[in-house]
Amino acid sequence: MRYYSTNKKAPMATLHEAVVKGLASDRGLYMPERIKPLPSSFFDNIDNLSFQDIACTVADAFFGEDIPADDLCRIVCDTLAFDCPVVKVDDNIYALELFHGPTLAFKDVGARFMARLLQYFIRQEGQERVNVLVATSGDTGSAVANGFLGVEGIHVYVLYPKGKVSRIQESQFTTLGQNITAIEVDGVFDDCQALVKQAFLDPDLNAHMRLTSANSINVARFLPQAFYYFNAYARMKALGKAENMVMCVPSGNFGNITAGLFGHVMGLPISRFIAANNANDIFYQYLQTGVYTPQPTKQTLANAMDVGDPSNFARVYDLYGGSHDAITAYVSGATYSDDDIRQTMRDCYSNTGYVLDPHGACGYRALREQLKEGETGVFCETAHPAKFKEKVDDILGTDIHIPQRLAEFMKGEKCSIALSRRFDDFKAFLLKE
Ligand SMILES: *Cc1c(COP(=O)(O)O)cnc(C)c1O
Repeated sequence: MRYYSTNKKAPMATLHEAVVKGLASDRGLYMPERIKPLPSSFFDNIDNLSFQDIACTVADAFFGEDIPADDLCRIVCDTLAFDCPVVKVDDNIYALELFHGPTLAFKDVGARFMARLLQYFIRQEGQERVNVLVATSGDTGSAVANGFLGVEGIHVYVLYPKGKVSRIQESQFTTLGQNITAIEVDGVFDDCQALVKQAFLDPDLNAHMRLTSANSINVARFLPQAFYYFNAYARMKALGKAENMVMCVPSGNFGNITAGLFGHVMGLPISRFIAANNANDIFYQYLQTGVYTPQPTKQTLANAMDVGDPSNFARVYDLYGGSHDAITAYVSGATYSDDDIRQTMRDCYSNTGYVLDPHGACGYRALREQLKEGETGVFCETAHPAKFKEKVDDILGTDIHIPQRLAEFMKGEKCSIALSRRFDDFKAFLLKE
């Protein structure tokens, strides 16, 4: 399979090239040249298949031309060492719980898959060290750092905005050591992302070291997220609830929802999608007006969705041939203030007993408001509420339990490198590595 750039001004790339480069040379995002539909027989029988079996079939449609079936299925099964179950929350509303992985957020799926795929390529060719640069607003950094921890031949640099991620999130990538270096940038997430993007385009740095990205723009991170949308459908079908199924995705950089939309193009019978935003409502505004206007990032309670210029918008736009009508026919939006999020968490907790995290709260609320007669809604619960324990306890008046695997991180000692948001500083640091 070859990959083209959404800006259409870069040469086509192989899977290997697209994974190692991350971003195309014209600053566009890679897209597979073809999206293979899956046969209707697959969907007829899907409720009898396990998550792993479903994922191997979906992975084969994406990557089967480039990786032998046995190797690919091993990578998939290693990646999915945990389940992504659907859980009933309310009348006609279910949570697709994506937080059962090692860092308790959905990004574990893409990060673990990418680490294994990159390792597969590196081993095959006996190449020099590969350096992964990743900007994070919280959860990406922990998922990528843990996905790659101890993987030989790969070093990871995690850039995160100083003072803008929770203590628990920070502990998940600043306490690891080994092949993981944490860099604390005096700025916001968009500054971190800009530094990473600029590094890939800098000739001196590229001559000095082999760089790759692990942000959600990387095809090896975002495509595997399609796996759990197929699983959600299968599990809902087993419950007899898959008819008129609506998926609602709390969205920031739009990698997660884009993978779901790919699933639909492959034939997954989900009747429509809702993208739920916090106060960073750029996509919502685009749906209303047809005009895409990046905004400075606003800090919110759902901080992993604080993105003012979502990268994967370019993919959504490309997927629908740039047609606003085609996008709005299938995807609708929602935007919520911090007050809305707090209120929703309280209402859901008191009415159903289910503890939402601030991101999932946006998804749940959008379904409560927008679900029509005869539809069943599934929202992605993108992180475990304990990742935001201080906020959640404060809002709900609870003392929620911290799962063991999360508590372990917090015992470690923080080790990070402080840098300004100037590219020159970042570059000088990397040139010494
Ligand atoms: C990253 C993240 C999101 C946003 O996902 P995108 O793919 O960037 O849209 C939502 N919730 C949580 C908990 C996250 O970590």
